[in-house]
This record gives sequence, C-alpha cells and structure tokens, in this order.
Amino acid sequence: MNSDDLFVRRIAIVGGGTAGWMVAAALGKLLQYHPCEVVLIESPEIGTVGVGEATIPPIQLFNRLLQIDEHEFLRETRGTYKLGIEFVDWFQKGHTYFHPFGRYGADLENVPFHQYWRKLAQRGEGGALSEYSLPTVAAYRGRFAPPDANPRSVLSNIAYAYHLDATRYAAYLRSYAEARGVQRWQRTVKGATLRPDDGFIDAVVFDDGSQLEADFFIDCSGFKGLLIEEALHTGYEDWRHWLPCDRAVAVPCEANEAPRPYTRSTALEAGWQWRIPLQHRLGNGYVYCSDFLSDDEAQATLLDRLDGKPLADPKALRFTTGKRKRAWNKNCLAVGLAAGFMEPLESTSIHMIQSAIAKLMTVFPDRAFDPVDIAEYNRLTDTEFERIRDFLILHYKATQRDDAPLWRYTREMSIPDSLQHKLDLYQSRGRVFRYDEELFADTSWVAVFEGQGVIPKRYDPLVDTYELDRLRAVAAKMRQTIAAGAESMLTHDEYIARYCASSR
Ligand SMILES: Cc1cc2nc3c(=O)[nH]c(=O)nc-3n(C[C@H](O)[C@H](O)[C@H](O)COP(=O)(O)OP(=O)(O)OC[C@H]3O[C@@H](n4cnc5c(N)ncnc54)[C@H](O)[C@@H]3O)c2cc1C
Repeated sequence: MNSDDLFVRRIAIVGGGTAGWMVAAALGKLLQYHPCEVVLIESPEIGTVGVGEATIPPIQLFNRLLQIDEHEFLRETRGTYKLGIEFVDWFQKGHTYFHPFGRYGADLENVPFHQYWRKLAQRGEGGALSEYSLPTVAAYRGRFAPPDANPRSVLSNIAYAYHLDATRYAAYLRSYAEARGVQRWQRTVKGATLRPDDGFIDAVVFDDGSQLEADFFIDCSGFKGLLIEEALHTGYEDWRHWLPCDRAVAVPCEANEAPRPYTRSTALEAGWQWRIPLQHRLGNGYVYCSDFLSDDEAQATLLDRLDGKPLADPKALRFTTGKRKRAWNKNCLAVGLAAGFMEPLESTSIHMIQSAIAKLMTVFPDRAFDPVDIAEYNRLTDTEFERIRDFLILHYKATQRDDAPLWRYTREMSIPDSLQHKLDLYQSRGRVFRYDEELFADTSWVAVFEGQGVIPKRYDPLVDTYELDRLRAVAAKMRQTIAAGAESMLTHDEYIARYCASSR
C-alpha cells in the first residue's frame, strides 16, 4: 500500500478547553497541506476548567510556531509578562525567595556562577544570590524589557513568559484554528464505539445517538479522560503520596495596583495560594489537600486573603495528581488534563500541552499506528512528567515548616530515588545535572534548592583557582551592572501601555 493510502483522513479532538484549542490551532497550521479533516467537539453543557493562567518561557516557541504576534496575543488575552515566581513562606514562615527565568550571574572559567557565589556566601560576602539575577531584580522593581539581541549586553540575560486570561486564550486560539479550516462541533459525547478486532476507537457517540467516525482521536476532555480512560481503560498513576494537594478553589478579584511581572505563590496551612496579575484583574486560587482542610475553610481563607473585591463566585476543582499510564493508547492520544495533572505550582500544564503537540509532530501517525512510534511518544512523555514531578516534590520536601499536618507530612515523606539523587549531588558540591528531556534547567533547581535551604557542604573545587580579590571585584561589578540594567527598563506597566494594552 502507498503511504498516502494510509493517510489519517479525519482527526477528532474531543474537548474545547485550552488543550483542545491549542491542539486544534497547531494542527490547523501544521497540517494545512495534509489531506486531513480536523474536527473539534466541545460540549455546550460541560464547562472548561477555566483556570491555567500562568505560563513558562517555552510558550514563546509555540506562539512563534503559530506565527502569533506577541503584542496582539497579550492584548487579546489581557495578558501580562512573567519574569518568574515569588515563593512566600515555603521554606519557613516569613521567608521569601524568587524562582527567576534567566541565569544567575555569568559563568567564570566554565564553572557555573552560583558556585563562586557559594564561596563568597560562606565567607559572609557577596550579597544575596537574587542580586545576580536580572529577572529577579527587574521583577521586584516592577520593570520589564524583552532580552537584548546582543549577547554581550546584560539585558540579554532575561527570559520571560506570560500571564493570560484562560477563557480569552481558548477563544483566541479558536478563531485562529477556525480560520485555518478546523471544524467546531458543539455536541456532548456520551461514549465511543470500539473496533471489535483490535479495540481501536471507531467513532464517538453523541447524546442524541448520532456518531462521528475518525481515524485518530485526541482526547482533550479534561480530568475524566472520556476516551483514554472511560472508553479505553488505560489506567492512571496516582502520585498523591508525593504531591498530596487534590483540590483547589479559584476566584478572580479586582486589582488595586499596577500588574507585577511575576506570579506569587504563598504556602498556607494546607497547601498554597496563587496570585496571577492580569491587565484587568488578579487571578487567585488556593490549592489544598482535602485530608487537612475542608472546602468551606479553603474558600473562606481564600476570600479573606484577596487583595481586592471578588469578581465572580469561587470555583471549586478536584483532581488527582499523577499521569495516565499511557498518554497514547491505540488510536487515541490524551493531551492536557486528560493525560495527567501535577498541580499548578510551577505553571507546567500548558507547557505539557505544547510539548505533547511537538512530540506528536515528530511521530505523526498514519492509519497503521506503528506501535514503535507510540511507545517512543509514551517514553518521552513519561520521562518529562517524572522530571517535572521531582521538581515539584522538592518544594514540599525541602521545608522547615512544622506548623501544620501537611508540612509535617511532606517534610517526612519518602521521595523518588531520582529526586534523592539530585538532592545528594547538590548537597555535596552544589552541582546540578540536567537529564534528558528535562524541562527545568540548572537555574531553576538552584533557585529552589537555595531558596528552600538545601545548602551544599562544599563548592566546586575549581572555584579556588580563581583569585579571591578578583572574584570579589567581578561579583560586585555583576551586581552593579544588573541593578543598572534593571533600572534602564521601562516599568512593566509602561511597557504594556506602550505595546500591548487591551482596549477592554
Ligand atoms: C487549580 C488549577 C490551576 C491551574 N493553573 C495553571 C497554570 O497556572 N498554568 C498552567 O499551565 N496550567 C494550569 N492549570 C492546568 C490548566 O488549567 C489545564 O492544563 C488547561 O486548562 C487544559 O485543560 P483541558 O483543556 O485539558 O481541560 P478542560 O479545561 O477541562 O476542558 C475540557 C473540555 O472537554 C469538553 N468535554 C468534556 N466532556 C465532554 C463531553 N462529554 N462531550 C464533549 N465535550 C466534552 C468540555 O466541554 C471542555 O471543552 C491549572 C489547573 C488547575 C486545576
């Protein structure tokens, strides 16, 4: 058979949340010369999760892939810029640190800068690590600029992501996808029929009994996994013993200040609170563990802690941290919450959708659905999930809080061997190794290790080959240059007003 005889002729995407519309937009763009029909089905009765408003820098690649103009995108989603996350009360009550996008200082003699800073810090010198991070200094001064194209400029050393309104993001992607030929069906799916010979999905069945056949099904139906789980019974790996938060309550509120260019995450008694500044409001939520807090208490705590008047009724969400045993099973690929959810602490879920799309395009199937390709997709996905999982667990494990049962549990819990290995390496000599397919780079690990009290016993011995007085002078110069660089930027508010203010 010719390969074109095996072309996938119709793809059905089930679900019109962020995942469904990201997939639809990407397929609309990337399959424009492929003779394949793309249909997205979304239920008029079942809502989307409707949260998911903080992103990480790789989202820029997704926008570039779609050739989306950044300023238009921010105008349409009423978005703001994000230079990192401020973590409040995670290590100890009253303690704050910042996880920035962008490096600390500049490496010297091929040794990472944080190793030199460690040497100075041991001597009570050198100031705070955050003073060597342009995104951190800029964030706390409320400043923003995109990176300078000149790699020699201090202003090149910045990376950024966005905060966006999730509902507007899905609507924006929908118009993008529809303009590129994606069909939208507003129907509620009741189930699926399977082929008797191999158990592949043949068609989705709607509540009126009608059906839609397709060759390839992308399950973006959210937590329940309408196809991947309810039809194919793929199974789910439950990670609540490591990531015990299983509920959230979310509510937007009025903003009473200019939007800050960073997310804030504050550890509370039974979980943590997010605060995400958009152009027109703040997004807020309390992610908590239902073993230690009732829904009513969580809601009352969140409402009590808002910085402005609530703009909607609180929305309650339930989830099980973990991942689908196989994201791709037969002719069904789960993307978004249907594939798994590790909680929103480091804003990784939208990234995982984007990453799923990128992997799909590298092993795009024909109707033979080669098991080797599917196995490789699943291997890559599992590794990615596990590496992010470890990074998230670190936040809960490396705490000195013992004021509430959640924190007593997490500081004592056993952790995956892969994370223990990372911790051992850092505690020994401050070294971080990035393993294959790992999302978070060394800056991120160093930020959380140092921010949460994981202190190396020794620094890298190569540091001692650098003369101490020279190091002092270089470090002082770096701090000055970074402070001056941050000061030279527009304020975040000015930048938005100049380039991407939404008309509201
Ligand atoms: C508390 C919380 C905070 C989060 N914060 C962040 C964050 O800051 N950053 C981040 O990257 N991610 C975050 N996420 C994750 C993010 O919200 C999701 O990854 C994203 O919204 C994708 O959701 P989804 O499209 O997979 O599912 P959903 O939004 O649940 O969409 C499911 C879709 O399936 C449709 N559907 C369901 N059943 C049927 C049916 N029977 N028939 C037809 N259609 C059906 C629905 O109509 C809907 O369109 C957060 C998640 C939670 C729970």
